[in-house]
Amino acid sequence: MSLLEKFERYPLTYGTTPIEYLPRLSAALGGEVEIYAKRDDCNSGLAMGGNKLRKLEYIVPDALASGADTLVSIGGVQSNHTRMVAATAAKLGMKCVVVQEKWVPHYDAVYDRVGNIMMTRLMGAESRLVEDGFDIGIRQSWEDAIQSVKDRGGKPYAIPAGASVHKYGALGYIGFAEEVAEQEKELGFQFDYIIVCVVTGSTQAGMIVGFAAQNRAERVIGIDASATPQQTRAQVREIADNAATLVGLGRKIREDEIVIHEEYAYPAYGVPSEETNAAIRLAARTEAMITDPVYEGKSMQGLIDLTRKGAFPKGSKVLYAHLGGAPALNGYSYYYREG
Ligand SMILES: *Cc1c(COP(=O)(O)O)cnc(C)c1O
Repeated sequence: MSLLEKFERYPLTYGTTPIEYLPRLSAALGGEVEIYAKRDDCNSGLAMGGNKLRKLEYIVPDALASGADTLVSIGGVQSNHTRMVAATAAKLGMKCVVVQEKWVPHYDAVYDRVGNIMMTRLMGAESRLVEDGFDIGIRQSWEDAIQSVKDRGGKPYAIPAGASVHKYGALGYIGFAEEVAEQEKELGFQFDYIIVCVVTGSTQAGMIVGFAAQNRAERVIGIDASATPQQTRAQVREIADNAATLVGLGRKIREDEIVIHEEYAYPAYGVPSEETNAAIRLAARTEAMITDPVYEGKSMQGLIDLTRKGAFPKGSKVLYAHLGGAPALNGYSYYYREG
């Protein structure tokens, strides 16, 4: 039985996302481990989709019930999340205000004109650029934006960074775990490990709760891309605990079920290392699978490094959760001017 039965879901995605085998990437990493990807980057027709839509599906019913007319959220300049909130608002016929902070020390000439922020503006959202630096917590600039909507007579509905510390923020990725189990029945095998990028935390926290119900949460391998891993880990813990209670998991999440690798986030959030860029190129050249320098390139780097180091026993089947993010690449054109 699904843990999500009592929760309302407003469809923003196509539904079950495909799982595909990546034979050329598997071979490039030695051929002893089978690598698959679950393509949440291809999950919707709304503004190129991604993981935030899976979360927002469980938040929208609450937003509609509140009678709000404006969605208010926050992210970095090249935030995938604010793009997805803008898409949701456009699709619902609501207004949207998004605060975009200077989370990333990166200075491509068109960084604040292309990719995510361009699509956010195209969809009619009011994008407010502010100077504040990176922080996954609740921000003053977000509180100010909520107040400003009230001041002009609107009714805001507040969605925190990454849709993570919202009471329903983890439900979507509990659904992911249940979906994987269904797909495994058809495939005729089970995955040994699931690799997922983690920053604001509700993607991994949802997976942990969902896979805990299948007694394999410790097989969810988080790859930190925040470079503030203590804060991220604390947030995953808090979200997982709240979600476990909310859905009635019936037990606590153990400490060994929260697995986060910290060693791939360098040099900073939003800044790719040489190894991140090498990972992005390898996935692109072997599988035409496009990953980004902020999130998925770092989890791809983790997947590649852990596989090469022999962290996964021979014969393991590893599922890479591709969470989206490719639009941000446009803001990093200088790195990839020669491929
Ligand atoms: C937001 C995001 C993540 C991180 O997910 P969290 O739930 O914030 O931890 C990873 N990849 C992409 C593409 C994202 O947009």
